[in-house]
Amino acid sequence: MKTSVRVALIGARGRMGQTIADLAKDDPKIDIVAQCDLGDAIDPAIKDCDVAIDFSNSSAIDEICRTALQHGKALVIGTTGHSPEQRQLIEETAGKLPIVFAPNFSVGVNALFALTRQVAEIFGSEFAPKITETHHKMKKDAPSGTAKTLREILKETQEVPIESIREGDVVGEHTVTFAGPDERLELTHRAGSREIFARGALRAAQWIVGKPARLYSMQDVLGITPAK
Ligand code: NAD
Repeated sequence: MKTSVRVALIGARGRMGQTIADLAKDDPKIDIVAQCDLGDAIDPAIKDCDVAIDFSNSSAIDEICRTALQHGKALVIGTTGHSPEQRQLIEETAGKLPIVFAPNFSVGVNALFALTRQVAEIFGSEFAPKITETHHKMKKDAPSGTAKTLREILKETQEVPIESIREGDVVGEHTVTFAGPDERLELTHRAGSREIFARGALRAAQWIVGKPARLYSMQDVLGITPAK
């Protein structure tokens, strides 16, 4: 009987890749069967897995989608910074494969998505929301994928500015500020370590295997109201 999910890890030498590999060592339900990074062919890694987890670079997405389609494998995509065309490709691929695509795999940030939607509905257009995100200096994309998702959620009420700060070794902080007449509400999430994303990605990998083809969010995995 099958006891563990066989995972191919793409971006394995990176900060997230290493954190996922470390966590998986102690998880009997996960078997990392292949690891690849820049310069390695993705095909041999993907063809013998149940699901591929991608925490690499947006430029890898063409090859990842093509290879996953060829072998009919599920995907968990954590990489951020994709262009509109690359996002379109992910959506098209999800017409044929089950894919979890999430800018943030932490339970706390997915709660922040749900709370932001709720607060925006309560306040309406009288309150001007603003997003602030802070990350370590090595982060390649700005604004963060999480900040863009928060902006999408708030778009229904108005256009929202994003302030991106790159400093030190900050793992990830996001604040949504609602400023209105004589009062102000701030919702903040602070990531303490990369393990929260790694745990979420491994949970998503176990959840997605065997699901029908569709683009799923982490909120689907967690069973909370999806952010639009
Ligand atoms: P990193 O720079 O430490 O690691 C990225 C790794 O991918 C590197 O080892 C690099 O060599 C490799 N790589 C680059 N191009 C590749 C390619 N074409 N094929 C295979 N491997 C390739 O970055 P990181 O901090 O680990 O983050 C990786 C990605 O995940 C970023 O896009 C980041 O924004 C995103 N991220 C998402 C979440 C989330 O919860 N969704 C959390 C943290 C980071």
